[in-house]
This record gives sequence, structure tokens and C-alpha cells, in this order.
Amino acid sequence: MKFVPDQTQETDVSVIEVRDLHKAYGELEVLKGVSLSARRGEVISLIGSSGSGKSTLLRCCNLLEDSQRGEILFKGEAVHWKGSGLHRHPADKHQVIRIRTNLSMVFQQFNLWSHLTILQNVMEAPVTVLRRDREEVEAAARKYLDKVGIGDKCDVYPAQLSGGQQQRAAIARALCMEPTALLFDEPTSALDPELEQEVVKVIKALAEEGRTMIIVTHDMRLAADVSDHAIFLHMGRIEEEGPPDQVFGTPKTERLQQFLSATV
Ligand code: ADP
Ligand code: MG
Repeated sequence: MKFVPDQTQETDVSVIEVRDLHKAYGELEVLKGVSLSARRGEVISLIGSSGSGKSTLLRCCNLLEDSQRGEILFKGEAVHWKGSGLHRHPADKHQVIRIRTNLSMVFQQFNLWSHLTILQNVMEAPVTVLRRDREEVEAAARKYLDKVGIGDKCDVYPAQLSGGQQQRAAIARALCMEPTALLFDEPTSALDPELEQEVVKVIKALAEEGRTMIIVTHDMRLAADVSDHAIFLHMGRIEEEGPPDQVFGTPKTERLQQFLSATV
């Protein structure tokens, strides 16, 4: 597969769109008809109590999880499915790879490979999955590590870094895929408060440069600061959503009011 950076510029087409998505683990219904859409350059924050389905929704978006009903579209291209209900899976593995590599995920627990150096971690997927030229990837990896402020850590192993530095390496790794959008799942939750801010700063800089992002976070200030649209998920449904001023400033539903008062 030849790597072609995504150069489409349209702002009107959604990078990622989910329509009426339903997801269950066996008997447990986790997503009960969720719809969302992120246009190019848009930052969406996803908030809600633990267990409300935030991680599941992100994982469904980039096809790390199957879903039973509803549609997922990447830049207007619908995911093709085979089977139905609990047996529904994506039908086209090339499409899955294309979507997954274009929606790069950053996890709470960094998930760096401990036996690889930081530079090797960042280079691994572009070289082995996307089969890009190693020298070009190395130059890009160094550029992204510089960008997140750890350009001097190329040759060390993850265990030698602080949590905040490891998470920034994980962000550089996601960027090095040259993805269309970034999906963050609680990127600061595993960090001590003093290390959280260095990661927040990087995420804010990415928002300012116009990256398309969906950010699951417990950090309401981060969500309010960076997002164009905020979504409050409650027991697998969107309970309330809107511009962050409204969602965080004048929440309408009692559930969101309760949630926000419990998180400050
Ligand atoms: P959140 O990220 O909002 O905390 P999750 O999406 O992780 O919520 O989980 C939503 C629900 O799905 C929870 O009840 C959780 O226990 C359940 N769940 C998540 N992953 C699995 C899984 N792999 N198998 C079974 N149940 C799961
Ligand atoms: Mg979660």
C-alpha cells in the first residue's frame, strides 16, 4: 500500500460521522443510538460518567469495535458491513485499515512499546503498516517529537520518561501516521496533576493548528477551552450537546447539571 497523505481540504464533508449507532457486549447495551459528526478542523469533546460508553464510542468510530446497528462514515464513505446484529462486522479489511490509520488514537495508558526507543515507537507503524520510506518517516518522527517538546528523548526507552513525556511521545506517534483526525481517550487521566498540563498544552496547540479531534476527557476546563462542540453521554445516549459555552455554562438537563457539579 502506497502512503498518500490526506490532502482533501473540504470543510463541509464530515471527517467522521456516526448515525444512530448501537453497540452491545452480549446482553449489555452500551450505545443506544448515538449520532455525531466531526467536520474538518472541528474539535469535539465527549464527556460523561465512567461507564457511559465514551471509550466504546471512540473505539467504534475507528473500527476497533464492531457495532450492531447504525452507520459510520469516513469522509462521506460509508463503512461496508456484512452480517447483522451481534454478527455484524466490517466487510472490507482494506477499508478498515484505511479508516483506522486515518483516525489515530491516543490512549489513557500511552501504550508505548517498552522494548523500542521513543524514536522507534514513533516510526514503527508508518514504516511497517503504511510502508513509508524509512528515512522520510525518521525525519517526520523527529519533527513531531520536537513539536511535542521531547526531541531530545529519541534514543531513550519509555520507562526512562515521566508519564507526561510518555504521553507526549504517544501523541507524536499518532501524528506520525499523518492522520485525518486524532481520537483521544482520557489522555491526561493517568497523569499526576503537574504533568497533566504539559499534555494539555500540546492538545491545545493541535487544536489551534486546526486538527480534527475527538477528545474524551474528565478535564472540563480542557473540554471547554479547546472544543467547538461538546457532547454529554449518559448511559449510552447523548443526553445533551452543543457549543461548549452552553454545555458548560448553562446546562439544560438536570443530569448534566449534576454531572458538572460533581466534577468540580
Ligand atoms: P466509559 O469510557 O464512558 O467509562 P466504556 O465505553 O469503557 O465507558 O464502557 C461502557 C460500558 O461497557 C461499561 O458498562 C463497561 O463495563 C462495558 N464494557 C466496556 N468494554 C467492554 C468489553 N470489552 N466487554 C464487556 N463490557 C464492556
Ligand atoms: Mg473510558
